Amino acid sequence: MKLFGLALLLCGGVSGFTSVKGRAQNARTILRGGVSSDLGTPCEEECALESFPNMPESVHPGVLTGQAQVDLLNHAKENGESSSPGEHAATPFLLSIASRHLASNACLEAARRNDAPIIIQFSSGGSQFYGGKGLDNKNYAAAIAGAVSGAFHVRTMAEQYGVPVILHTDHCAKKLLPWIDGLLAASERYYEKHGEPLFSSHMIDLSEEPIEENIDICKDYLSRFSKIGMLLEMELGITGGEEDGVNNEDVPLEDLYSKPEEIYQVYDALTPISDQFTVAAAFGNVHGVYSPGNVKLEPKILTRAQAYISEKLGGSAPSDGKPVKFVFHGGSGSDVSDIQEAIGYGVIKMNIDTDTQWSYWEGIKNFESKYHDYLQGQIGNPEGPTKPNKKYYDPRECMRAAEVNTVTRLDQCFADLKCVNILGLGEKADAENVLGPRRGGLPV
Ligand SMILES: [Zn+2]
Repeated sequence: MKLFGLALLLCGGVSGFTSVKGRAQNARTILRGGVSSDLGTPCEEECALESFPNMPESVHPGVLTGQAQVDLLNHAKENGESSSPGEHAATPFLLSIASRHLASNACLEAARRNDAPIIIQFSSGGSQFYGGKGLDNKNYAAAIAGAVSGAFHVRTMAEQYGVPVILHTDHCAKKLLPWIDGLLAASERYYEKHGEPLFSSHMIDLSEEPIEENIDICKDYLSRFSKIGMLLEMELGITGGEEDGVNNEDVPLEDLYSKPEEIYQVYDALTPISDQFTVAAAFGNVHGVYSPGNVKLEPKILTRAQAYISEKLGGSAPSDGKPVKFVFHGGSGSDVSDIQEAIGYGVIKMNIDTDTQWSYWEGIKNFESKYHDYLQGQIGNPEGPTKPNKKYYDPRECMRAAEVNTVTRLDQCFADLKCVNILGLGEKADAENVLGPRRGGLPV
């Protein structure tokens, strides 16, 4: 068993996370198993692993930032290219779940079951929900505090589940920038104490603004991010549909497809600051799930952009022909062949949210129909008029049913993304000492 957390800040007073010709280097040693060490929570077995059998050495259980995050993303991109659609090669693809419905434990459970890394992200609305909708959100105070509290939850529990997690936030339009400012301030403070940021990365979505303004603001944030080992996800072109108050249901069709010249413009502007950015380029993506035929994905837009940028870079282009790390928004309801094609073009992250909203709700719906007659009052059910129903209406029961259904949906995602048996931990043993039917809980 390894002991962790004994050697934080091996070298103090250094410049921290800097970008050297686009290659980020962290001068401080980042604490592994940091939260369990800080809080004194138990950290044994998989929690205490220093690395994983099939991952780069820096990748460890818990939230990844700095070089560990860089190594994981590069690993994903390199291995994505070696698998072709239909092939069952182990591809460390990263799955991104918008955790607006307190489902982060289900995400962690699914990641461990699939022996894979995962990205968990909070939307602005999800962050506010974490804080509670009864709390005043003036100046995004509730969304900031909610996201910070969620971050500590994910940090603590990711170590316990023994999986690597990238902790991210979703769309941040211009008017929401104070939310990210609050989170960035929290990360900068966390960095002072721990040598790494609280969050791994943030998305800034200025796709509704002129491209010059979009790029200028992203440059400013990337400069600050790169000092503390954070990554920036930027959006170019527009993701259609509706998501968490971002309504793009009526945008012109051509805006749903990014142009190679625009992607190059972003690449050219950001790379001198840091190479730790990803581009959510539009290739017909739509948030939400619609009837078949209403969404026309064109993943080839991504490979054309990679080729265009590689040509512009000439001799300095990366040998894999994929200078850009792309992000796939609106993964819910997408055709598996489109998903797998996009992976081959340098997509290293796919967001899935609508489908997990449904799976969570469906779990509750099925629970209600299964136990309907036990859920109509505190006392009295088909077994007798005086029988108590407490164990049926205990909210944990329907929420657990929601989680189990969500984990099953996520199993399918991991399989679609060829993201199974990636870490090398093997099968997860059954959880022990969990309250089950024998001790009064309901079977799930
Ligand atoms: Zn999105």
